[in-house]
Amino acid sequence: MSTATRRYISSLGLDAYVVGGAVRDELLGIEHSDEDFLVPGVDQAGLRAALAPHGRVEDMEVHGQLVGVRFFPRDRTIRELAPAGIEITPPRRESSVGPGHRDFEIVTDSSVSIADDMARRDFTVNAMARRLATDELVDPFGGRAHLERRELHTVSPESFREDPLRILRGLRLLSQLSFTLTTDTLAQMRAEAPGLRHVSGERIGGGVDADGMGELSKLLLGRRPADALRLARDTGALVEFLPEFAVVIGHDLGSARQPGPLEEHLFEVVQRTAELDAALEVRLCALLHDVGKPEADRTGADHAHLGARIAGGVLRRLRYPNVVREEVQRLVAGHAFWLDGPIDGVFARRFLASHGIDRARRLLLHKHADLATKRVEPWELEHLAALERRVEEERERPHRLSDLAVDGNDLLAAGYREGPALGAALARLLDLVIDDPAANARERLLAEAASWLS
Ligand code: ATP
Ligand code: MG
Repeated sequence: MSTATRRYISSLGLDAYVVGGAVRDELLGIEHSDEDFLVPGVDQAGLRAALAPHGRVEDMEVHGQLVGVRFFPRDRTIRELAPAGIEITPPRRESSVGPGHRDFEIVTDSSVSIADDMARRDFTVNAMARRLATDELVDPFGGRAHLERRELHTVSPESFREDPLRILRGLRLLSQLSFTLTTDTLAQMRAEAPGLRHVSGERIGGGVDADGMGELSKLLLGRRPADALRLARDTGALVEFLPEFAVVIGHDLGSARQPGPLEEHLFEVVQRTAELDAALEVRLCALLHDVGKPEADRTGADHAHLGARIAGGVLRRLRYPNVVREEVQRLVAGHAFWLDGPIDGVFARRFLASHGIDRARRLLLHKHADLATKRVEPWELEHLAALERRVEEERERPHRLSDLAVDGNDLLAAGYREGPALGAALARLLDLVIDDPAANARERLLAEAASWLS
């Protein structure tokens, strides 16, 4: 907890409060990296003026409305504690502008009280503030007691209607902090779930904040993502932000190896990837890896390729960065590899040649999670363990074009011309070397390549 930041903010002579998630996490005894502050009785200009002598002040805007500032203190040590800046706002109230292109507006208003600023927040546990000068806790909705009981209550029954993203925020808090949903909150979620359809993709997926993480990412990166996903399914929220799941939910795989509906399998694999502390890309792959199955079962097409295409559509719509989307698509496309056959050095080097070491590790992690949820035979797990070991053993042995003892220039010197034949010859040499690393000797490869010239 950055008491240093709090002490610094107090030293500026503003009567500041730390608010929201930072107060919640402090009461839970958890680290919270991005503390937000609230200064009552000032407006945007007043806040700017008060902070300007102490560092750089940037306006924060939401939908063209000024909603506070991002502050980069001149003080070096404090700036390093909050490299993305410190969020400081005047009190704000919310004015609803109806569902559709813009669900609500937040406006700053220096006459708004702390309690009223808390009233526009989503959950009672997020609607607390602590006054830095006195340590006093402002808790107008009983958030502290709810926190102790691990209960998630909305601040108002209109909460989800005003901003349906809060449904997903609630589910991700449940995943992160093991909250339970009260019957009330659950009923509100169910009633307002259709509103999620109108929420912009970036708020759900790729995220609007500097951390580049929307609520779905935070949900998946939590500790209990499967419970949250089941609730998303049961409340009807899931198909609103992931309509691709409409054909997944209840899809019967009709196999003894994988009993139960398809979505349960996906949720369980996500849960395993969480237990294995996997990266976001692997968790997204887990969630989406078999979404191609229903169509594949109908048409006979390859489910992994279909899945990769569907995953691409999902991640594009949810505004994930291209690098994340492309990696997840490759993981989904590559997830269905077989583990029969001898798991030897050649097998491992071929696997490395297809995916590279980083993706190979992610695919293995995914496979681990995937097999853990299926009724597999012992040999499958043994082969997986063998491949994991082999991949680490073989990763420095030749499996990339750059590992070859010859390159394109050598082949040009040996009589090849620029063009596809040269590329094909290099690929063929690599093939040979993957099969037999001892063949990776310059003279030997040049002789081999020369023999292919007509
Ligand atoms: P974390 O920072 O761990 O993601 P957080 O609860 O701090 O969790 P932020 O997105 O940082 O979430 O938001 C800070 C605070 O702003 C929240 O605790 C909540 O009080 C309020 N808030 C954020 N988004 C909304 C929203 N959509 N509706 C109402 N209040 C919100
Ligand atoms: Mg926060």
